[in-house]
Amino acid sequence: MSGEIKARALSGIRTWLFDLDGTLYRGGEPMPGARKALKALESAGRRIQFITNNSRHSAAEIASKLSRMGIQVLPSEIVTATEYTGLYIRERHGCLKLAAAGSDAFVAALREAGHHVLEPGDKGMVDAAVVGLDPAFTYKKLEWLTQAVSAGAMLFAANADACHPGEGGHPVPETGALAAALETATKKKAIYVGKPEPYLFHCALERCGGGIESAAMVGDNYDTDITGAKQAGLCTLWLAMSAGDANQGIPAEERPMADMVIRSLTEIEQALRHGGDKLEV
Ligand SMILES: [Mg+2]
Repeated sequence: MSGEIKARALSGIRTWLFDLDGTLYRGGEPMPGARKALKALESAGRRIQFITNNSRHSAAEIASKLSRMGIQVLPSEIVTATEYTGLYIRERHGCLKLAAAGSDAFVAALREAGHHVLEPGDKGMVDAAVVGLDPAFTYKKLEWLTQAVSAGAMLFAANADACHPGEGGHPVPETGALAAALETATKKKAIYVGKPEPYLFHCALERCGGGIESAAMVGDNYDTDITGAKQAGLCTLWLAMSAGDANQGIPAEERPMADMVIRSLTEIEQALRHGGDKLEV
């Protein structure tokens, strides 16, 4: 794609959806160019939303974290798996009795969505087992959820991610690892809510009133951000900074689905400033 075509493509993007972890920040540090790119998009009057598979923290907690990095974002601009898993279940099945493994914020969000969340170990009737990133996950919880699912409860998981990069790039086990234990124990497949499934993309667009035909997703994880956004019908910018971590070192040329490949968020700011012609693949 020539620079000129890319410039036109970029100028036509009215709604920008960003992944957070690994795209806007890593650990407690903002990614290079993150603040400037967001400022440039804001100044250009673009809609911005953030979509994260994070199923441990609320949007308010994530907004505070971003604020500490000098990035000012409203909780209402952040779509999290933490808060949207309960809404996903309610939209499809109504308010249910849930056996849940997850953080305090995850369980609070399930209750906020109208579900009845049982206390861990409660032997009452369970409509569905739900898994988020649970730092206090135990064998006892696995046993409880396994028995609920084996007795006929549905199984939902906030995302299928195996790990996310933590401080120093060390892998932090994610929700998908816990869901996989349940799938193995019950021989049932979980229903996943987060990226690459289309639900969070659609929720973010609905929230900001952006049309899908003029929206783009920017993310570092090819398998969730790019594949998912593409399937949802969005334009995609893959932040293939080092093609490491989330992408297992797979070179950009072997991942042909992204509409654009960028090496840094600085390229977005430069492209806007110069009319798009600086954005190179
Ligand atoms: Mg990411």
